[in-house]
Amino acid sequence: MKIIVPVKRVLDYNVKPRVKADGTGVDLANVKMSMNPFDEIAIEEAVRLKEKGAATEVVVVTIGVPKAETDVLLTARAMGADRAILIVSEDEVEPLGVAKLLKAVCDEEQPGLVILGKQAIDDDSNQTGQMLAALLGWPQGTFANKVEVTGERIVVTREVDGGLETVDLKAPAIVTTDLRLNEPRYATLPNIMKAKSKPVAKKTVADYGIDVAPRLKTLKVVEPAKRQAGVKVADVDELIGKLKVLGVAK
Ligand code: AMP
Repeated sequence: MKIIVPVKRVLDYNVKPRVKADGTGVDLANVKMSMNPFDEIAIEEAVRLKEKGAATEVVVVTIGVPKAETDVLLTARAMGADRAILIVSEDEVEPLGVAKLLKAVCDEEQPGLVILGKQAIDDDSNQTGQMLAALLGWPQGTFANKVEVTGERIVVTREVDGGLETVDLKAPAIVTTDLRLNEPRYATLPNIMKAKSKPVAKKTVADYGIDVAPRLKTLKVVEPAKRQAGVKVADVDELIGKLKVLGVAK
């Protein structure tokens, strides 16, 4: 079974986002960009399935700027992906556009399984996997906490509000990863060096003839309200006194 893992290049999760002065978005100039953390989990799961013999090939796909080839796609191959597809777009593509492009990739590649992150930490959309499943008409197991593949059968344990739900899917299927699915391996330096010889197919959005024009208009982006500084109290009595003044304690 071939597995496709879509990965997104996002602002590194350790970087504090700065909003552009004109309020049109987050400033990405000269800041560290990395692979979306949920997508690292997706690659790890795909590589583990290959190591167990349940998968034959792991192909990573990104839609993004050319620089993605030398950072996220290199990391993905160093973690164990066999080859990569880079679909160049200088502009951010919305989840529906990404899902349409991924459908075109699936039509060409015919994977048995697509593992995506449950959400990208920059837009927090949590839409692409679900939209891709709808466009392909394939079953989906979202927010995966455990994935077991036996032949054409994919059993996914999902994190839901009330606990865990287990669904049984027939390949080809879509899975999206939740945080506790696994702990991704590091891309070691020797593996990064070796990964440079693994192939990357370069495409453009135009190659697929798909309309990825934005459907949404960002009106404004603002920083969250600053937290007010706290005060230190000498003891519990003083704390209770202050809470009484605020009407929080009697
Ligand atoms: P989202 O729906 O934007 O929260 O993203 C969910 C998942 O879709 C991500 O974790 C990725 O696996 C995939 N994805 C989103 N955007 C892209 C992109 N530009 N290129 C490749 N995969 C993407």
